[in-house]
Amino acid sequence: MKKLYFITGSQDLYGEEALKTVSKNSQEIVGFLDKKVANRAEIVFLGVVKDSSTCLDYILKANYDKDCIGIITWMHTFSPAKMWIRGLSRLQKPMLHLHTQYNQRLPYQNIDMDFMNLHQAAHGDREFGFIAARMNVKQHVISGYYKNEDFINEVIRFTDVCLGIDHAFNLRVAMFGSNMRDVAVTDGDRVQSEIAYGWNVNYYGIGDLVCIINEVKEEEIAQQLEEYKKKYICKTDNLQAIKEQARYEVALRKFIQKEKIDVFTDNFQDLHGLNQLPGLAVQDLMQEGISFGPEGDYKTPALLASLLPIIKYRNGATGFIEDYTYDLLEGEEIELGSHMLEVPPSFAVNKPEIQVHPLGIGGKADPARLVFDSIDGDGLQITMVDMGTHFRIIAAKIKLIKQPEAMPKLPVARIMWKHIPDFKTSTEAWMLYGGGHHSVISTALTVEDVKLFAKLTNTELCIIDENTKL
Ligand code: MN
Repeated sequence: MKKLYFITGSQDLYGEEALKTVSKNSQEIVGFLDKKVANRAEIVFLGVVKDSSTCLDYILKANYDKDCIGIITWMHTFSPAKMWIRGLSRLQKPMLHLHTQYNQRLPYQNIDMDFMNLHQAAHGDREFGFIAARMNVKQHVISGYYKNEDFINEVIRFTDVCLGIDHAFNLRVAMFGSNMRDVAVTDGDRVQSEIAYGWNVNYYGIGDLVCIINEVKEEEIAQQLEEYKKKYICKTDNLQAIKEQARYEVALRKFIQKEKIDVFTDNFQDLHGLNQLPGLAVQDLMQEGISFGPEGDYKTPALLASLLPIIKYRNGATGFIEDYTYDLLEGEEIELGSHMLEVPPSFAVNKPEIQVHPLGIGGKADPARLVFDSIDGDGLQITMVDMGTHFRIIAAKIKLIKQPEAMPKLPVARIMWKHIPDFKTSTEAWMLYGGGHHSVISTALTVEDVKLFAKLTNTELCIIDENTKL
């Protein structure tokens, strides 16, 4: 189980009795919050910081524990912040600074100097806040009584985002082929991606996959076809095309397992040895939580994979999409997002249909793909671009809508949405921020999640929402 280490700040000026109370009260708060984050992670009390050397010991312990995803700090009493400098200078994990109190109310009748000295987060947390800000620690601060619902929800959000960051740190991305020729926005600095987020992104020849595809057995294909039968409606006579996708999927699974891959990309310009573009195969893998990027785009699916742990315990759909075309009726503008094939079936409002149609580009055989209409609801569109000097995340609030009319001749799955605050503001802002045409769309992620992810990974963030003015 992943862990968050809880460290309480104090000092040895108050005597042993006071420190015992500080420790006891801290453990009570830890016990309470630990139950609230429940199955996500464990909150473990490390101890009370009394001097610079205990602080350094605790932070080194957090740093070198692979299961530790972040630390939580709280100043029960005053805790002179110079004793935190050495420790914080070595901190490499996200930090949550709780600004709270053991007691909710002031004991007006009984409050004396001892009580005030013991319960002085108002004083101690400000001292700590200064040093964390001055040292540019990757941190989040939550204020309020720790039993308040909003407070608890923020602690849960911090835990979820830390799980995402921890997952990102361990991600392995396989690129079959490289970036699509001449496309700019999907390219990026893979070395910097690993330094910034931990994404280990590597090239594989499509031949590496073809070797595995050629060894897939008939019974493995039959088993995969049974899975398709359970999950999808077959709307084609071209069973050979479906069988081919099943073969790809079995091979992809073997490859993913062997290379410990979480994310992969392909490129329709480089499919030597495959006679279809992987469509159904990729869509089915997407539904199982494998992130995929087309055209050699590694950033969008790696970002998706980094955000997925945040919404593990929420409802909603999340996945890759490409901006495609518009309905520009003035004042009612709608966007249609889709892709050549690879639209994630988590957005399906109905049971997806397996269909086989020709593909306009790529010069390959007609591929099987899943076709469906999308769910509606409040959503968020998120993308990451490489600005050369740094990465930038752009997040826009959107409203997914039911498609206004049937589109019987469109041979791919589709998602439709309206922009917030309006089409003109949102899309102009998206362009000005440099947002590309590949993104993650989610009805589960919120702006607050993305803000926290950006803050804790030190990533520039541009938000487009109801308050956006150009
Ligand atoms: Mn694309």
